Amino acid sequence: MIPYGRQSIDSEDELSVLEALSRDFLTTGPLVESFETSLCRYTSTPTSVVNSGTSALHAAYFAIGLGPGDEIITPPITFIATQAMAIHLGAKIVFADIDRSTGLISVQSIKEKITERTKAIVLVDYAGQPCDIDGVKALIQGLDIKIIEDAAHSLGSEYKGIKVGGLVDITTFSFYPTKNITTCEGGAISSNNSNLIQRAKEFSRQGLIRDPQRFLIQDEGSWHQEVHDLGFNYRLSDIQCALGISQLKKIDIFKKKRSDVFRKYKEYIPPLGVGTVGEMSYANPMWHLFPIFVPKESRALIFDYLKSKEIGVQVNYIPAYHHPVFHETLVNREEFPESEAFYSQEISIPMHTNLNDTDIDKICTRIEEAIKLFS
Ligand SMILES: *Cc1c(COP(=O)(O)O)cnc(C)c1O
Repeated sequence: MIPYGRQSIDSEDELSVLEALSRDFLTTGPLVESFETSLCRYTSTPTSVVNSGTSALHAAYFAIGLGPGDEIITPPITFIATQAMAIHLGAKIVFADIDRSTGLISVQSIKEKITERTKAIVLVDYAGQPCDIDGVKALIQGLDIKIIEDAAHSLGSEYKGIKVGGLVDITTFSFYPTKNITTCEGGAISSNNSNLIQRAKEFSRQGLIRDPQRFLIQDEGSWHQEVHDLGFNYRLSDIQCALGISQLKKIDIFKKKRSDVFRKYKEYIPPLGVGTVGEMSYANPMWHLFPIFVPKESRALIFDYLKSKEIGVQVNYIPAYHHPVFHETLVNREEFPESEAFYSQEISIPMHTNLNDTDIDKICTRIEEAIKLFS
């Protein structure tokens, strides 16, 4: 089976983890700060690590003060965590449609959805491409609306020559094994706004404050720490940070390998009469997925055929409002023609650093066979 996504772990990663296991601290130790420093240097943005991309979104939403009565605008084509964490804080989800060639949120559609209650716009860097950030910034100029970038797919990507991380108010990453680098489970929050990053960091560490200058209880003793806002235990362990530090050192190599795979697919697949993802000229992506588009009538047959031939495939993603949990919000699917069209035709084929030319040939041959058989 050729997996659709896979981590890349080498002996350096293994040594780094082993070394971490013999240290004094397995968690809350110095490797956490080291990993944060490495990420901060890489993204040129202050960064705090947490135990998943989902926790990162929760902390980011908390940091901007999201709560009951607030609305966030998100695309439907994303992993459910993008919406779930906002709903857990009591916010209402407002969907904006996407552009069917890229899977990225449409600026025009966002414009139609902004209300007085809009607290934030959440951009999802589908497949690794950043959204039209300047377009969104122009739209909300003068309004008290934050921009959050769910960059689970796009650590290592650039927007107009600048690395993802500090482009908007707050950015979240995931280090799940299929993502661009891994810590098994893990995530991070980046922001150039010191108040936002501090709030996100404290939220992910039980809300504990250790800075005496901020204490409301004075002269308690040198052991003292206090809580102003309740948080969660979203800590990432030192062992995972050791893996993250080692992985991040190789991100440029990973990016190049993913890019080589992307270019080969772009050469071989369109001549088969199969659609591929549109490329934005402002972006230099670290490609996370490779979506192809096939006729919707034969999508399921093609998907099952590829699977039967040991080609790992996925569909990213079912529109979030299709999930039964959203049915009470009575979303009219006809309002989202681009998301519906995208979902009905999409298949993600293998995209990771361990694919060689033989794998790519095999994958493309199987796609060709499937197209001949079913369309
Ligand atoms: C993976 C992913 C997440 C969640 O990350 P986890 O680390 O799995 O919690 C959130 N949003 C998107 C777009 C993702 O792909």
